Amino acid sequence: MSTAEAIELENKYGAHNYHPLPVVLDKGDGVYVWDVEGKRYFDFLSAYSAVNQGHCHPRIINALTEQAKRLTLTSRAFYNSKLGVYDAFITEYFQFDKVLPMNSGAEAVETAIKIARKYGYEKRNIPEDAAKIIVANDNFHGRTTTIISFSNDPDARKNFGPYTGGFASIPYNDLDALEKAVSQPNVVAFLVEPIQGEAGVNTPADDYIRKAKAICEQYDVLLLADEIQTGIARTGSLLAVCGNCTCEGHCERQAETYTRPDMLILGKALSGGAYPVSAVLADDEIMNVIKPGQHGSTFGGNPLAAAVATEALEVVRDEKLAQNARRLGNIFRTEMQRLVDKHDILKLVRGRGLLNALVVNDAPESTTAWDICVMLKENGLLAKPTHGNIIRFAPPLVMTEDQLMDCVAIIEKTIEQYLETRG
Ligand SMILES: *Cc1c(COP(=O)(O)O)cnc(C)c1O
Repeated sequence: MSTAEAIELENKYGAHNYHPLPVVLDKGDGVYVWDVEGKRYFDFLSAYSAVNQGHCHPRIINALTEQAKRLTLTSRAFYNSKLGVYDAFITEYFQFDKVLPMNSGAEAVETAIKIARKYGYEKRNIPEDAAKIIVANDNFHGRTTTIISFSNDPDARKNFGPYTGGFASIPYNDLDALEKAVSQPNVVAFLVEPIQGEAGVNTPADDYIRKAKAICEQYDVLLLADEIQTGIARTGSLLAVCGNCTCEGHCERQAETYTRPDMLILGKALSGGAYPVSAVLADDEIMNVIKPGQHGSTFGGNPLAAAVATEALEVVRDEKLAQNARRLGNIFRTEMQRLVDKHDILKLVRGRGLLNALVVNDAPESTTAWDICVMLKENGLLAKPTHGNIIRFAPPLVMTEDQLMDCVAIIEKTIEQYLETRG
């Protein structure tokens, strides 16, 4: 099948809920993907950071296929031989008492919201139906009806109402606004991304989350960290809330920069892209408000997911992916800054670890970022614009320095080509 044929099929028979770059991928291995014509690309999106461990990581695929031959789904009506082992493993890895396993990221966010509300009513005596959760402007937490109710992205919201109540939005990276919000009555939680990925790798002050946690504690408000995109080594530490700590999962959590959220929300790279796996982690005091029958999912905690996620996390630790992301991220931002200094069309580079964005110096409505991404594709590198005129760069964390420098050369050449064609 050709690129044109595959695109035509999707257009004709699939809902048009995405606007993909015109490339049809057929195969992946590590940092590379190949299209149906056999052309090879560097993947600089990593499926929105789900493929941190690289495409088709042999260890993860082996765990997947071995478990798939044995047992895939039991439902939670029965116990299975993998889930308890995984529960013990992941809670040790992230240092929480308990885990609640789900599938997609949005489901995990919904789970955290439900637990936070229930905790508010049962442990803090919030009056019935009055619980309020604070969120940040320009957030992205998924696509369910409740989650889009507190989005301020018109595309995500418009004509999907009526909206779920009980949320209030404040500016991101604004501690005064946070203190004002959480000091109001009936606030149970602050739900926040440590770096706003979809909003354009919106990177707050280094101490934002740490200070936000201190404010939340003062008012007995839970901090819910959505690390679906920033977590699992992407930003140069195991979690973005780890700050400068580069250990790989068995941390004593004594690094000065570590901030412990009350709930940790994970997804995406929890499976290395092999399978939808998400999770909420919290301590007993919080997690025990959920009793049998009160929350669940048919596929949540299935043995296939448990086997895949365990291996995916082992790979992150064994291959020291956080350290690699940190080291390569520093090199990448230095190189991009060089391009920013050279070309007016580029406004700035920002990010942490290997979650970075190049902000294009053009009107947000212009197609500059899109046009550059199309040219990057022609030159063998796949990236996607995010909101406004911003290009996110998030390669798999198994990249080598040589590969990264090849990619920098592609980006540099593409910017120069773009400026030539534009005249
Ligand atoms: C991707 C993402 C989600 C939603 O995850 P899905 O698996 O697409 O439902 C939620 N929060 C953040 C920060 C994300 O990046």
